[in-house]
Amino acid sequence: MESLIQYFETIPVAHRTIFLVGGLTFFLLLEGGIPLFRFKSSKVKHVALNLFFTLTTLLINLAGAFLILKASDFNAANQTGLLNLFAIPLWLKVILGLLILDLIGAWLIHWIEHQVKWIWGFHVIHHTDQEIDVTSGLRHHPGESVMRLLFTALAVFISGASFGIVMLYQTTSGFFAHLTHANIKSRPWIEKIFSPIFVTPHFHKVHHHFTLPHTDRNYGNIFSIWDHLFKTAINVNSMDELTYGLDTHMKEKEKWHIPTLLKIPFQKYRSPVGSKFSD
Ligand SMILES: [Zn+2]
Repeated sequence: MESLIQYFETIPVAHRTIFLVGGLTFFLLLEGGIPLFRFKSSKVKHVALNLFFTLTTLLINLAGAFLILKASDFNAANQTGLLNLFAIPLWLKVILGLLILDLIGAWLIHWIEHQVKWIWGFHVIHHTDQEIDVTSGLRHHPGESVMRLLFTALAVFISGASFGIVMLYQTTSGFFAHLTHANIKSRPWIEKIFSPIFVTPHFHKVHHHFTLPHTDRNYGNIFSIWDHLFKTAINVNSMDELTYGLDTHMKEKEKWHIPTLLKIPFQKYRSPVGSKFSD
């Protein structure tokens, strides 16, 4: 465990890139072999558009990485943060660190994005994808990427996780973004065994159904336990019941056109069927 954390403490940028590109390529190949849904539109066009938003997300994360470094340095220098309150073994620190980082840095901000009207506007882009595949994982509006970055830095500050644990979390989180969005048919036994603890491909796809209440369920990133704990988990009998997208944004342009997508947060709020917000 010590050598694993040491590796992530000084992980080279080249290795992080290999993990990211390797994950994308692996799942793209897997999607060809065991697809969950057949693509109706151009896969190449879909991949190109989502990679544009993936790239902006990565650039924002790169530019803001100093915030995460500052938070972990502050905790190391002052012995602050939850994990530094007690003398606990490293393996427990790693597990608790991953759990807290996932709760605050991913689940909480995702839940907030669905509850606060102006923040929701930034998250809409992620949900306007009508064909979910591995490239949908990091399809975020730049504004949303900034919010997610700030919450990750906050999570690091509160948790007291060391830089090595944070890098392990970031790498695992990237892997799960790819795994859970990948257009792959998962086995029922895999879903049954893993979904009580981890976010599985089918568990997350339900979140991309185009109407409520499904859109407001299954917020998890790595661990599904937060959705089970906070009663935001939902199940479907069959994946064939799902239609991806958002009932308020089903026009072709809002699926494909980059300038149109970027403008969505600044447009008038649209009420979905069974809306949780008033106009
Ligand atoms: Zn969402």
